[in-house]
Amino acid sequence: MSCVFCKIIDSTIPSTPVFQDDLVYAFADINPKAPVHVLIVPREHIGSLDQADESKRALLGHLLWTAAEIARKKGLANGYRIVVNTGAEGGQTVDHLHLHLLGGRGMTWPPG
Ligand code: AMP
Ligand code: ZN
Repeated sequence: MSCVFCKIIDSTIPSTPVFQDDLVYAFADINPKAPVHVLIVPREHIGSLDQADESKRALLGHLLWTAAEIARKKGLANGYRIVVNTGAEGGQTVDHLHLHLLGGRGMTWPPG
């Protein structure tokens, strides 16, 4: 299995954990783009948001709730941004569905 995030989930590759439960794992991004930059991933390998079929609806909701819960725990009361890069034109570089939680600085719009 060659997926880097699957290897992080099974501890083959080390990471800095932020939150975990039976469905999701969250860890610090290795190349942070903001003072808080956390990746939230499903334990199950799903290649991208586009590959999450109807059976994953509850899991997708759980991923989003997890991101908000981490933001609350990290004290991001002034706001934050959730990003889900999807596919080549979406800027996705790791083909395992993940949410970016970015916070701790003002964000600009539109993103590049
Ligand atoms: P994306 O470009 O949306 O696919 O995001 C992939 C993210 O994974 C990037 O922000 C990378 O910095 C991050 N990343 C890649 N490898 C690792 C790793 N071993 N540990 C933590 N974050 C990683
Ligand atoms: Zn994977």
